Amino acid sequence: SKRRRRRLIMAACTTAAPATVSSSGVQQHNHHHRQQRKKDKMVVIMGATGTGKSRLSIDLATRFSPCEIVNSDKMQVYKGLDITTNKIAFHDRREVPHHFLGEFDTDEVGELPASEFRERAELTISDIISRKRTPFLVGGSNSFVYSLLVEEYDPDSDVFNDSNSVSSKLRYDCCFLWVDSSLPVLYEYLDKRVDDMLDLGMFRELAEFFDSDELDRDLEIPAGLRKAIGVPEFHRYFKKYPPGKYKDLDRVRRGAYEEAVREIKENTRQLAKRQIGKIMRLRRAGWDLRRLDATATFRLLLMDGSDDDDSDWRSVWERQVLEPSVKIVKRFLEE
Ligand code: ATP
Repeated sequence: SKRRRRRLIMAACTTAAPATVSSSGVQQHNHHHRQQRKKDKMVVIMGATGTGKSRLSIDLATRFSPCEIVNSDKMQVYKGLDITTNKIAFHDRREVPHHFLGEFDTDEVGELPASEFRERAELTISDIISRKRTPFLVGGSNSFVYSLLVEEYDPDSDVFNDSNSVSSKLRYDCCFLWVDSSLPVLYEYLDKRVDDMLDLGMFRELAEFFDSDELDRDLEIPAGLRKAIGVPEFHRYFKKYPPGKYKDLDRVRRGAYEEAVREIKENTRQLAKRQIGKIMRLRRAGWDLRRLDATATFRLLLMDGSDDDDSDWRSVWERQVLEPSVKIVKRFLEE
């Protein structure tokens, strides 16, 4: 195929460059110098949905300033549905610049393919590095992370369903942090997070989203932002009970609402499980992921019920997740 041929040609170019003899007779291995060029450094924060990647990224980015964050959550790249997709709030970003957060209009671009994310994010990262800042890649979409980091990316191969095709040859010098948790605790925590998101206004946000010609759309094959968990589930609800038409939450309506919430919780759990499976696959293929265990933090958050910064969970988070991460990143950046 054309791609294979190109790959072979490129391989030939890098291995067959001859050593040249200069006028002084000293051999110069030009290509060798090129190959020795150090790869650019990047911190990569991975983990399933809801594990606290954004929190950790801000904690680290403020400590190792100046840093900039490149988002790799495939739903958060789109404009809109900030609560539903759980984008980090502006005031929580603590002035750390964020890229690819709400930058694309799904009505204009449809769906952003991983191959395009790879090309665009590569440019953004070069720019961050040229300004002498450290890039942090943060987000749960493993297909985006994979496409951006591997040396050779084949958009046609389904790496996560074909274990042999996962590559461990990366084009950056990466420091991988993986925020993980025991699955039962994470599940319970994710249920709570869905309730918290609803309290924050997720239902209202979706009602506004569907309060246009949106309801007439065929969501059988959703694309882009319309794939976000919450949209298909509430699409069914709003089809029956269009936004604005019904004032009171009658019993039937409440039942349909509860059904949608139940589906959202179930789909969020499934997403987390799939994401952890993909992360473990990368690790088995040789990606050097450093696992940080946030289980105890989530247990406390479930007991506390509050997200206040001065609660007990914060000190456990610091001891078990933040401090080990700081050590790892410090060593990596000093190398
Ligand atoms: P895939 O193999 O599906 O491309 P991926 O690792 O690239 O996996 P995921 O992040 O696992 O991407 O997202 C898969 C699906 O999970 C999305 O299509 C969407 O339905 C849901 N999803 C992911 N992130 C979010 C989010 N932030 N908000 C809402 N739904 C999300």
